[in-house]
Amino acid sequence: MNADVIIIGGGLIGSTLALALARHDMSSIVIDAQDLTATTAAGFDGRASAVASASAQMLRILGLGDVFDAHGCPIRAIRVTDGTAPQFLHFDTGSTADPLGIMLENRLLRTALLAAVQAEPLVTLLAPAQVASLTRDDHAATVTLADGRVFTAPLAIAADGRRSATREAAGIRIATWSYPNAALVSMVAHSEPHGGVACELFYPSGPLALLPMTDHGDGRARSAIVWTVDAAAAAGARKLGPRALAGEIAARIDGTLGDIEVIAPQAVWPLGYHHAATYQAQRLLLIGDAGHGVHPIAGQGLNMGFRDVAALTEVLVDAARTGLDLGSPAVLDRYGAWRRLDNAMVGAVTDGLNRLFAIPGRLPAAVRRFGLAGVQRLPPLKARFMAEARGETGTLPALLRGELV
Ligand SMILES: Cc1cc2nc3c(=O)[nH]c(=O)nc-3n(C[C@H](O)[C@H](O)[C@H](O)COP(=O)(O)OP(=O)(O)OC[C@H]3O[C@@H](n4cnc5c(N)ncnc54)[C@H](O)[C@@H]3O)c2cc1C
Repeated sequence: MNADVIIIGGGLIGSTLALALARHDMSSIVIDAQDLTATTAAGFDGRASAVASASAQMLRILGLGDVFDAHGCPIRAIRVTDGTAPQFLHFDTGSTADPLGIMLENRLLRTALLAAVQAEPLVTLLAPAQVASLTRDDHAATVTLADGRVFTAPLAIAADGRRSATREAAGIRIATWSYPNAALVSMVAHSEPHGGVACELFYPSGPLALLPMTDHGDGRARSAIVWTVDAAAAAGARKLGPRALAGEIAARIDGTLGDIEVIAPQAVWPLGYHHAATYQAQRLLLIGDAGHGVHPIAGQGLNMGFRDVAALTEVLVDAARTGLDLGSPAVLDRYGAWRRLDNAMVGAVTDGLNRLFAIPGRLPAAVRRFGLAGVQRLPPLKARFMAEARGETGTLPALLRGELV
């Protein structure tokens, strides 16, 4: 065998898995169709992600603490409102407690991960490289590349994103639907401080999220914007100039950030839900967006993938220590049983939230506001939501507690 595992897809999730395995003396071959250096360029992925506290603990123990210290902005509170109505739901950690999560630009996380993976002797990174075929039998998973090179391992892992060709070739079906809207993503500098508060304003056309970032170079505060727009209006929104876009955003946030200036080009992302019928086939597992994808309303998609990585690392490290075949059904079953319910629940909640707030009219709005005020007055329910945002619910793998396995 050439390695302990072959990982197809070296995005944020595939690379993190390779690094996590290497930190436990396990080897991997990572194959990505793209040149990964190009994916760290300024224009490639303008998004920033809310990395839940538990995910950030894992990335720190894997050696990526510097990027969080230098560029991460702690989320100290989350405020949820129905439009700009005065009733709101406020989750506050106080200034001393652990933050709910850390906002970080994807580009910076990709850059740090790529450098860590390239420096790791137990990871063989092949990118750009095209997978010509993946065959799996009782003994091994074998990948043949378009240039004729052949690699084998006891287990192949598909981390090749929402349109996973590996998943499709294995005949694994997905439940999927598209939302009638798209996410417009940009960055604004503003005159009022954000105080580490992430705001989620729900409108019938879709939510608008204001996410706190480290300050802009000129000392002004900075926030990432994820504005869910009607799919039909997305093309027009993409063409808005910076002033017009700033005006559209300002009109929806009631002066919350003071004077705002759009400081990054907007990108538009289609939004959909999908969940694979199973995460496993003979000598194959799905992780990250290859297995599931949710509406970004609660910033959970990447964090679900990080939880997959933490659980799978623990499963594989335990199996290696006890001498089990890494591709055996018992190993695959343990991973599937650990991750399926959590991913299904997050998918259902984010989908439900999106639909609940999309219902137009005064009566649904009144019910929603009553619900927000109710949760606000119920400390145990609020505590549960905050644990969910931190990524601290369910059976936590060691890595998410900031420990190696
Ligand atoms: C607007 C928006 C905002 C979001 N915000 C958040 C947030 O705040 N918090 C959060 O947790 N999540 C967020 N998400 C979700 C998050 O971005 C995704 O869940 C995450 O990027 C998935 O990572 P991945 O590595 O699984 O897949 P991908 O990022 O899609 O990576 C897949 C990799 O596989 C490679 N690949 C593809 N096909 C092949 C092939 N055939 N062979 C080899 N390689 C291949 C690709 O080149 C790529 O490098 C957001 C999503 C959107 C759309």
